[in-house]
Parts: sequence; structure tokens; C-alpha cells
Amino acid sequence: MSLIRGNTGDWEIVIGLEVHAQVSSNAKLFSGAATAYGAEPNTQVSLIDAAMPGMLPVINEWCVAQAVRTGIALNAQINRHSVFDRKNYFYPDLPQGYQISQFKQPIVGEGRMVIDLDDGETMTVGIERLHLEQDAGKSMHDQRPGETLIDLNRSGVALMEIVSKPDMRSPEQAGAYMRKLRTILRYIGSCDGNMEEGSLRCDANVSVRRPGGPLGTRCEIKNLNSIRHIMRAIEFEAHRQIGIIEDGGSISQETRLYDVNKGETRTMRSKEEAHDYRYFPDPDLLPLKFDEAFVETQRAALPELPDAKKARFQDQYGLSAYDAGVLVGEQVSADFFETAAKGRDAKLVANWMSTELFGALNRLSKGIEESPVSAEALGGLVDLIQDGTISGRIAKEVFAEMLETGETAGQVVERKGLKQVSDEGAIAAAIDQVIAANPDKLAEYRGGKTKLAGFFVGQVMKATGGKANPQVVNKLLNDKLNA
Ligand code: ADP
Ligand code: MG
Repeated sequence: MSLIRGNTGDWEIVIGLEVHAQVSSNAKLFSGAATAYGAEPNTQVSLIDAAMPGMLPVINEWCVAQAVRTGIALNAQINRHSVFDRKNYFYPDLPQGYQISQFKQPIVGEGRMVIDLDDGETMTVGIERLHLEQDAGKSMHDQRPGETLIDLNRSGVALMEIVSKPDMRSPEQAGAYMRKLRTILRYIGSCDGNMEEGSLRCDANVSVRRPGGPLGTRCEIKNLNSIRHIMRAIEFEAHRQIGIIEDGGSISQETRLYDVNKGETRTMRSKEEAHDYRYFPDPDLLPLKFDEAFVETQRAALPELPDAKKARFQDQYGLSAYDAGVLVGEQVSADFFETAAKGRDAKLVANWMSTELFGALNRLSKGIEESPVSAEALGGLVDLIQDGTISGRIAKEVFAEMLETGETAGQVVERKGLKQVSDEGAIAAAIDQVIAANPDKLAEYRGGKTKLAGFFVGQVMKATGGKANPQVVNKLLNDKLNA
């Protein structure tokens, strides 16, 4: 457990996350207006989104299906009957004067998600609920001095609010939760998970307590838009709360903002209560009802999910939990792996991906879908290692060339003459030369300094331009040195 040592003893952080995930949908939750990111302000606003008098919302079935699919992927209760409520508040970019959301009867109830921690361990985090709601518009304060402009393009866009139980105990666990949630959303395609574009935003609830003691009062940090910010904000907030309590103060429940530049949280407003919003069922919308068959159709159409894929990779390919976890982090890398590993040494392929390939892509700031070396090409390289054409060491050189030129492994080996020499006669000749050139070292070796074997191997490899088959070199050298 990760505890924080204070002046008066140890403290435990308690974290619950509320995530807003924008539904990937061409139309809004209650209107047919478009939802494209980055469009000119106020070009994607229907009369419904602008809350003109007399307009009536019409539920978008696609968005409902995405919420159900997400609920299933979160191992959650799918409620056959749910209700849309009005959450009443004034905001200049909320023309209705209320947000249509779900309160007492959300579309998805309790569930759970397994998160993958850095050390290869896993942990289960409870899901409290998932509900559908509309997004608000955007107030822009930085376009014209002294004026605020309003863009309603986002008004009415469908969001899934996914609320966790207060089950996390460290910033790292919160980061792992966000990563896993994003992975699942991307696998099923219900949200693109793009945090920079605001498709995925997080409110972090943080409190501190004595290890195992009763829950403390929480503060909610609003609108965090990167995993790094989430982790840093939680870290700062926990220390702030501990400082206050240790100084004899107490925490007041409030909503706070994270200042990215200062790395601090500060008060935004004192916490509002549910009753402040005067929730009531929206009279313009019927309750949402669907039958078991609808849910089953959605379930049957889901792709293989990350946990199942990870278990299968361990099982079918003999990968470690860690390697399997890394590979299933993105659907494209999992697919890449399976293509490359087909009929080959899967562990070797996994190794090449997690070290050389991911390392190179990192340096090039490229995603795996833009990899200059395709899955087939990597597979081809592994073939040459497996059949002894090249050694693992030469393979690195070949891989670097493949990255650069886009050639296949075979082409690089051919062009540069890198074929491994396994011919015993040729290698034996090289060994004889090396031994003849180093009589003093040979004497030392035979006098008991057996560590010098490494020196001889190095010399033989050098003499053969690194192309000698290391196994053959070791065997023959051993024979000759000890002759
Ligand atoms: P509200 O509706 O007022 O926002 P909820 O009970 O729905 O409150 O909780 C919101 C979030 O706060 C959930 O993610 C929950 O896990 C988290 N949470 C609740 N109590 C605590 C606590 N004591 N410390 C940290 N997080 C908490
Ligand atoms: Mg809340």
C-alpha cells in the first residue's frame, strides 16, 4: 500500500473518479446536429441545441447503444428501465437553463474494472454507475478583450458519465484506471478517448484518512484533461489536506480547480448538493426501456475485450502477464503482434516489439499504425533469427536499416552481406588465426584465467565481421582452447 508519511503518522489517500466520455456519434444525444471536432463556432447547432421555444428532444438510439455496450464492457448492471432528468442551473453556455442528465435511475448501474499496475499486478476497481447526459456549450473569454463569446457546437453532445467507487489509493492507481478505461472505450469504439480534444475528461475526488480508518471529507478537482495532470493534482491535493488536518484544521467539502502551471489546486466553489439542482424527470422524454434481446445483441457484437485478450495471449502464446498487458494496451498493437507472431516464436516477437519496435516508435513519435516496419516485415526478421540466418545481434542492425529504408529483413541482409556464418570450417579457421595471434592470452587461459574465453569470442566475432554463429563459435572455441 502506498502511504504518505506525515508529521503525525501515516496517511492513506482515497480516490474516486468521475469521467466524462464523449460518445463517438455523428449526431447529438437529442438532435441531429453534427458533432465534428474543431468545426467553426456555432455551425453545428440545431434549434434543439439552441433551446428555441417549443423544441422537443428526440433520443438518439445509437448513443443509447454505446452506453449499453460500455456498461457491458465494464461488467456492469444494465438497467432495462432508466429515466432522463433535468438538472437545473444557469450558465451562459447552457441555453436550456438545465442539463438533461440521469440521476436516480441511470442506464447503467454497478460494475467493476480490472486495472493493470506497473509491476504487472492487477486490482479491481468498483464502478458506481454510468449515465447519459448532454454536454454544455463553451464560453470563450480569450477571443475579444472585454467580451465573452459563446460557441454552442458542443451543446447537446452525448456524454457518458462514468463514476467509480472510492477504491483507489494512489495517484498511480488513478492513472492506471484512466489508462484502462481509455483502452476499453477505444476497443469498443464508444468514445475515441482523446483527452487533448476533450473527448475524455476527469473529475478527481480526493480525501485522506488514517490507514483503514473512516473515510475523510473529500474535495473534487474538476476537469482534468491528461493522465499526468490527474496524478499530479491528486498528489498535491492529498498533501494539502494532510497539511491542514495536521495543523489542527478540517477539510471543507468543495470543488477545486487544478492550476497546471503552478501545479496546485485552488477553490472554485463550495460543494453543491444534489437537491440544489432540483432534479426532476424531464417531461419531454419518456423513460428509456429496452428488452433483454437488445442487450444481448449489443453483447454479442462486442469485440474481444482487453482482459480476455490478455489472458488469451498468456495462454496461447506463453507470454508473461506484463508483456501481454503491454501488447493489448491498444487494439492495433495486439493485432500487429498476432500478425507478426503467426507461426513463429511468439515470445521472441513480443520481445522485439516491446524493446526494439516500441523504442523506435517512441523516438520517432509515431504510433504503431504508422510504423515504418510492418507486422509482416517484423515477422520476416524473426524468421531469419529463428532459422539461424542472422544472430540476434546482427538482427538489431538489420532492424535499424529496415526502419530507415523500408526494406524487408531479407533485402537488408542480402544488400549488406550480413548472413550468419555457421560453416564450421570457416569459423574454425578464424579461431585458429585468433589463437595464433594471441599466444600469451592462450597461455594465461590455460593457466587458469578462464574468463579470457570472452576475449577470444570477441576476437573471433570481430574477425568474422560479427557474422559468425555465436553457438558454433562457442562450441569450437571451447574445444580448441581446452585442446
Ligand atoms: P456527488 O454526486 O456528490 O458527486 P458521489 O457520491 O456520486 O457524489 O461521489 C462522487 C465521486 O466521489 C465518486 O467517484 C466516489 O467514488 C467519490 N467519493 C465519494 N466519497 C469519497 C471520499 N470520501 N473520498 C474520495 N472520493 C470519494
Ligand atoms: Mg458528481
